[in-house]
Amino acid sequence: MTRLFVTNIKNIFCFFAVRCHKKIIRNYVVDNMRNILSSPFMDMALQQAIDAAARGEVPVGAVLVDYRTQQVLATAGNRVEELQDATAHAEMLVMRMVRSRFLTHADLYVTLEPCPMCAAAISFARIRRLYFGAEDPKGGGVEHGCRVFQQTTCHHRPEVYGGVAADFAAGLLQKFFREKR
Ligand SMILES: [Zn+2]
Repeated sequence: MTRLFVTNIKNIFCFFAVRCHKKIIRNYVVDNMRNILSSPFMDMALQQAIDAAARGEVPVGAVLVDYRTQQVLATAGNRVEELQDATAHAEMLVMRMVRSRFLTHADLYVTLEPCPMCAAAISFARIRRLYFGAEDPKGGGVEHGCRVFQQTTCHHRPEVYGGVAADFAAGLLQKFFREKR
């Protein structure tokens, strides 16, 4: 798995990381925060995850970006409860918002490893690149479980970069489920 621009915050508490995550750090203290990625798009996805938690949704956020122009095409957090729709995962929502048959011009940033449903949709939409945050050993379908992109029936495999701001994204999920108990 490729990790991009990952900084060990325990050793280098750099200015950029502080500036990038200032708002989030103010609201959420995450134990063992290790991985910080200098990606404003993953920061946006994290903010979507935080907003989802505030709505009582599992905190997962996604951002779809046109890699040619760096324009944000869509942002969303989970809305499964609100819409009473089991398929209303953040990734599905951003893909639907763009309303395009193919998304070959798009990169997807999502705070959690996509489930098999979303991974299949990412493949169908022909998204160029997938950046995800925390791994999901229980429900993920990219690095775990059925590993959708590695199947012979998968006809489009995006480039995959996992572990982006992973500890922070995982911390949001842990905090959410801890408070729900
Ligand atoms: Zn999903």
